[in-house]
Amino acid sequence: MKESLSNRIEAIEESATLAMAAKAREYKAKGIDVISLSLGEPDFKTPQHVCEAAKKAIDEGKYFAYPPVAGYPDLREALAEKYNKENNVPYKAANIVVSNGAKQSIANVMIALLNPGDEVIIFSPYWVSYDALVRLAEGTPVFVKGTLENDFKVTAEQVEKAITPKTRAIIFSSPCNPTGSVFSRSELEAISKVVLKHENIIVIADEIYEHINFAGGNVSIASLPGMFDRTITVNGFAKGFAMTGWRVGYIGAPKWIADGAIKVQGQITSANCSISQRGALAAVQGDLTPTHKMVEEYNNRREIVYKLLKEIPGVKANYPQGAFYFFPDVSYYYGKSDGEKTIKNGEDFCMYVLDKAHVSLVAGGAFGEENCVRLSYAASEKELVEALKRIKETLSHLK
Ligand code: GLU
Repeated sequence: MKESLSNRIEAIEESATLAMAAKAREYKAKGIDVISLSLGEPDFKTPQHVCEAAKKAIDEGKYFAYPPVAGYPDLREALAEKYNKENNVPYKAANIVVSNGAKQSIANVMIALLNPGDEVIIFSPYWVSYDALVRLAEGTPVFVKGTLENDFKVTAEQVEKAITPKTRAIIFSSPCNPTGSVFSRSELEAISKVVLKHENIIVIADEIYEHINFAGGNVSIASLPGMFDRTITVNGFAKGFAMTGWRVGYIGAPKWIADGAIKVQGQITSANCSISQRGALAAVQGDLTPTHKMVEEYNNRREIVYKLLKEIPGVKANYPQGAFYFFPDVSYYYGKSDGEKTIKNGEDFCMYVLDKAHVSLVAGGAFGEENCVRLSYAASEKELVEALKRIKETLSHLK
């Protein structure tokens, strides 16, 4: 038989973040002391009250059956309440769909919304999976690029220029993975005014990093005038509550879109893990002190990494306002060589740093910017200082 996969699968790449994390694990398994700054994964433990709630759910023995497809009613209620209280968006439980991570939430809505050839404007640099999920749903990604000078943020004028009669959706994250940029209220207002001129465009606002925001409160675009009916707000527990492995993401969306996402989910995963949902309920109803402590720690690390990055010749970095990434421009090193190896692009740069400095990063091409690499500072201060020291030393051999 000819081994031929679908065109949809052939059209996408393996997730670069997960691929680089796997490579780092491979090196570690060989006994190499790799500092892994590739995966965006909190290095903290899930807060105790969340773990206790999940343990209790197991002991009670009430949560072993299939949960409702969209999530347990009390969790949907609690998430709607969170959106009302924290984000000023009047979602009700019927607007909420709980899924296996924000990634599945986005996949569900892409499948539910797009017809072949529908265009989705992706603010670039972008999180690696946006592009792939649009393509999997047979949509056409249209990239609109922010520049380092504008903190990588796309402007309303750029959005306006990119809109065509085929535009169905716009997707971005704020705080942004990979750049750490945060859209201000006025920037979001300007974008919403452009969107509201076009009656068929839906905004997919990925707010998974909302708590890790050093710039002050998060503004949800769905809370702006006229935008409730035009926005899907994506969120999840992985980043703010150190719950990556629990796989709980969710959307708030107009009911017709939520119903579409539920239909997709019912056919693909039936529902999200019952025990994880009980943990998530404790997280959303509980005290945010553990989250705030983690954020404080990320903020300290941001300062340290920024200072150390600036000490590396030729590296240009913006000062991130949220999330836990730096996305420095390292193109100064492209074309340089240590006498044996010449760095041609971001992939070469990352492999060189992995081989010589034993630090894993992710090449920026997967995020839409060849000149940059992504560094996650969700690692201990000690590891970060050591990693930056090693990178600086290694790069000094490139002439
Ligand atoms: N969102 C994280 C990252 O960007 C986790 C890995 C992934 O799902 O891409 O590193």
